[in-house]
Amino acid sequence: MSFAASVLTLYPEMFPGALGLSLAGRALEARTWSLEAIQIRDFATDRHRTVDDTPAGGGAGMVMRADVLAKAIDHVSPPGDARPRLLMSPRGKPLTQARVRELAAGPGAVILCGRFEGVDQRVIEARGLEEVSVGDFILSGGEPAALVLLDAVVRLLPGVMGNAVSGEEESFENGLLEHPHYTRPQEFEGRQIPEVLTSGNHKKIADWRRAEAEKLTQERRPDLLAAPAHPLAK
Ligand code: SAH
Repeated sequence: MSFAASVLTLYPEMFPGALGLSLAGRALEARTWSLEAIQIRDFATDRHRTVDDTPAGGGAGMVMRADVLAKAIDHVSPPGDARPRLLMSPRGKPLTQARVRELAAGPGAVILCGRFEGVDQRVIEARGLEEVSVGDFILSGGEPAALVLLDAVVRLLPGVMGNAVSGEEESFENGLLEHPHYTRPQEFEGRQIPEVLTSGNHKKIADWRRAEAEKLTQERRPDLLAAPAHPLAK
């Protein structure tokens, strides 16, 4: 079973974009996952192919029309499609590695990319869209957010990452930020690789890495340590 992504966008040319290269691109070629980018404008009904209109109640900008979006969603995701329907949105639940893992274990995702001021609330409700944010900042459109989400998902699909172990030790996988990394040369501009890492003592190295990860997390992201699920939460 492969992960099937359907992206609804006004800019299908943005896909696969960066996901056509490197690990994700090779996995796309190997059909470990599939990607279709659907032009929302193809579902407009008037002769100007209008997808947006002025906001009810007034104000700046334009809003994407519920009727056009619903037609596009129904076309790629008819009733019975088991894939979650996501709307990239700064109002959404912040994307986490846990949600990324869930998505990667599922059949795929239908992803709607907003533009302008956003989308008519009624299509969010009528089609059960799950709003997903990639961070507390505003992008000009949902496309870069969709690329971010898919990148995070695809690298977890079976066979995509050469060294599967590296995935499990990364930031967030154990509720901690990752320890620092070093490689040759032994000395760089007067800075040495920490001695313990060249000691060959695997137990000491593991302890050092764990301690560094905890220190870094304490300094930069104490909120991660305080999360109820975290083993170090008090
Ligand atoms: N007026 C909206 C922002 C619209 S930005 C507001 O204030 O909430 C236009 C589109 O870009 C959005 O519909 C959404 O699809 C996408 N977008 C912008 N920022 C995003 C973010 N942080 N995460 C996910 N999608 C985002």
